[in-house]
Amino acid sequence: MRIVVLGGGPGGYAAAFEAARLGAEVVLVERERLGGTCLNWGCIPTKTILRSAHIVADTRQAAEFGLEATVASVDIDRLRERKEGVVDELVGQIESTAKRLKVQVVYGEGRLVSPLEVEVALADGSGVERISGDAVILATGSVPFRLPSIDHDMPGVWTSDEAVSLGSIPDEIVIIGGGVIGLEFACAYAAFGSTVTVVELMEQILPGNDRRVVKATQTSLEEMGVRFFLGDAVESVEQHGERMRAILRSGESIEGDVVMSAPGRIPNSAGFGYPEAGIEMDRAAVKVDEHFRTNVPGVYAIGDLIGGMMLAHVAEEEGVVAARNAVAELHTVGASPHLESVRYDCIPACVYTFPEVAVVGSSRDSAKERGIDAVQAVAKFAANGKALGEGESDGFVQIAAEKGTGRIVGCQIVGPHAVEIIHEVAIAMRYGIGARELAETVHAHPTVSEVIKLAALDAAGKCGC
Ligand code: FAD
Repeated sequence: MRIVVLGGGPGGYAAAFEAARLGAEVVLVERERLGGTCLNWGCIPTKTILRSAHIVADTRQAAEFGLEATVASVDIDRLRERKEGVVDELVGQIESTAKRLKVQVVYGEGRLVSPLEVEVALADGSGVERISGDAVILATGSVPFRLPSIDHDMPGVWTSDEAVSLGSIPDEIVIIGGGVIGLEFACAYAAFGSTVTVVELMEQILPGNDRRVVKATQTSLEEMGVRFFLGDAVESVEQHGERMRAILRSGESIEGDVVMSAPGRIPNSAGFGYPEAGIEMDRAAVKVDEHFRTNVPGVYAIGDLIGGMMLAHVAEEEGVVAARNAVAELHTVGASPHLESVRYDCIPACVYTFPEVAVVGSSRDSAKERGIDAVQAVAKFAANGKALGEGESDGFVQIAAEKGTGRIVGCQIVGPHAVEIIHEVAIAMRYGIGARELAETVHAHPTVSEVIKLAALDAAGKCGC
């Protein structure tokens, strides 16, 4: 049984490794480096940069902690070196795992030439190789969406790709888009001392998020000096010598050294032969069923390529499930195999601003829109000993639970270690642990997780369970 995986990001390599563990012969085709956007251009470089930004922010507050320190300043070459070191280490680990699991990695740009055949223009320039399989998993990820009104070839126009390359830290930067990527960079640059302006088309930052989360995040960023233009759009960008000027729909114009375009990402599907091979698309996204099967038998698709929650851990989970389904279908030709799907309702989504944001499931209001009668409980970090001691007492834990049953339908956290402690609630939701059981679980003291216990206790009381 041979499975070909196209794209070696977290979706593709997770699929390849799972298929190999299940006994398939696997060929993984990657045009750049294993690890994809996540390891090379996204999650890992940004969090590595944000860690340095946090240290700068900490030294700025040293006096509050009874310390004398000069504010740390950026040595961009060493910052870049550290980031590249972290990325190289992780990419190396993925390459070693591929070797250990006997996954054959072919470097080059792949294209579907028929449903179960990929043609690869080899990266070393030595020619073209045709690889066929019994199943193909498409995992070509996503690329930054480029606003057509902006000339991205101007040197002062960046996407997140240029930002993580760390060529320079601009003195003044205009960021288009107040979503996750835009805000994480806004936070890092503000900490590094840049003057940051964020322009967001919608009336709020972090579109789609709960009001309380949005307000708390905006307030924290404003306290760091970030300026917001909401419900406005950058209509054009002009270059004036070394400076850039963003002209907004409202008539406002903002100058900076750099305009960073971060309005979102789109599935990377153009030019790889998908429609020609008969694969149904929904605009740029490949259409799949709940088992990640495309309309063409034997061809699966996962990760950012299929749209939805464009997150690394989502791509990874989809990759594992698609690989299992592909192997199950190949093992049971003619019969109906047991096929798996992904539970999206309890997958956390995180924003690594200062403070961090983490959400899982729904808020009370969005649960209501789905016909669920839920209560909402809020507990603040301001009364939490660990958070106060760490000097990070802004924020809250908000839990929504179903009236009567106490079933947790969602949780939103803004505050210290939010991206770590959210998993307690994700596990509760995944395995049906209610607000009362969460509240009755002893939490170590002092920990920031105690705020979850408090919110759960309040939610259980309000649910009447
Ligand atoms: P990708 O990671 O995009 O991988 C696709 C791979 O396919 C790439 O390696 C590409 O080179 C290869 N490829 C494409 N076309 C071809 C072809 N024709 N032939 C051969 N190879 C090809 N997500 C999180 O969960 N947490 C975060 O903190 C986070 N931060 C982010 C920060 C930034 C700045 C960005 C841009 C993204 C971030 N993301 C984050 C999103 C995350 O990176 C993606 O959701 C994730 O990488 C998607 O995985 P994937 O495997 O679907 O695609």
